[in-house]
Amino acid sequence: MTSQKIKQCDEMIEDRVAQHYAVGMNDHVRGAMRFHSPDDDPVARQYVPDEAELSSLEDELVDPIGDHDYSPVKGIVHRYPDRVLYKVTSVCPVYCRYCFRKTMVGPGQDVLRKAERSAALDYIRKDANIWEVIMTGGDPLMLSPKRLQQEIADLNAIDHVNVVRIHTRMVAADPERITDEMLQALSSGDKMVYLVMHVNHAQEITPRVQDAISRIRRQGIVALSQSVLLRGVNDDEDALESLFRGLVQCGVKPYMLHHLDRAPGTQHFRVSIARGQELMRALRGRVSGLCLPEYMLDIPGGFGKVPLTPQYCHEHGAGYDVTDYKGEMHYYE
Ligand SMILES: *Cc1c(COP(=O)(O)O)cnc(C)c1O
Ligand code: SF4
Repeated sequence: MTSQKIKQCDEMIEDRVAQHYAVGMNDHVRGAMRFHSPDDDPVARQYVPDEAELSSLEDELVDPIGDHDYSPVKGIVHRYPDRVLYKVTSVCPVYCRYCFRKTMVGPGQDVLRKAERSAALDYIRKDANIWEVIMTGGDPLMLSPKRLQQEIADLNAIDHVNVVRIHTRMVAADPERITDEMLQALSSGDKMVYLVMHVNHAQEITPRVQDAISRIRRQGIVALSQSVLLRGVNDDEDALESLFRGLVQCGVKPYMLHHLDRAPGTQHFRVSIARGQELMRALRGRVSGLCLPEYMLDIPGGFGKVPLTPQYCHEHGAGYDVTDYKGEMHYYE
């Protein structure tokens, strides 16, 4: 095919995928790609629509981690007693092809309305067990600095809320929107703020992203990361090693490596749990402990997250057989 024909073909796929799911890229993520093709580039693969999205497998779920069943009021997901998700918006700066909330995010669903927001905050106010509020979405950093300041002020006024956590794609996807005004808004309360940035490949840690991270840290916000284990993006030792080293070098502690949730049209991103554990085992002796996140599964149906850490220790007689990082066994009495 001529390159003109290939381009038209790509546009047709994009249009067809866009009828089902939100699609969105910006100049920053395009700039982080070396090639525009999802088959050739770990950043393109995260954002450029692929024909494979148009087919779903039977085990895929519209709500893979059971958000709906654990939502007492709109905008809140309460699964664990001490913490809630507070979903302030359903829009994102870009749209990831493997998104676990693929059928729930996108333009048109938009922010919580005023009355819905008060009801969500009332819910948090009334339950003294809620120690931490995790702002998510969509992407909470799509809100204006003014609106973020209001959210922080309202959460700050609730005595039992001690920690605010922000889950965001913005740092890796649009670092220029992490303005000083936004960072001041986030740190305007006296409760501790943790920012967990979603990033999957070292190629995403561009100089602008590094600059945003250093400004976040200077503002006294603790920086962590979460990544999704994705076929063709980061499912090999070298890719994970560079990603985690890259993050730790900028002052970001890798927090979680998620096993992919089975949202519709994501089968081409699947990696088996056995492979994920093999990768984690290989990394254990190879990189600093600072670089190792926890490999996690969110059990389909809303039963929560569990670590999929490879097992190094098995009961044996009055003690344990312990396997070291090289695979050698030792008896621990
Ligand atoms: C993932 C998740 C959390 C956060 O879990 P941590 O283990 O604290 O990171 C909280 N609530 C819900 C509903 C979640 O899905
Ligand atoms: S940023 Fe998060 S919520 Fe938004 S599309 Fe990507 S994975 Fe989904």
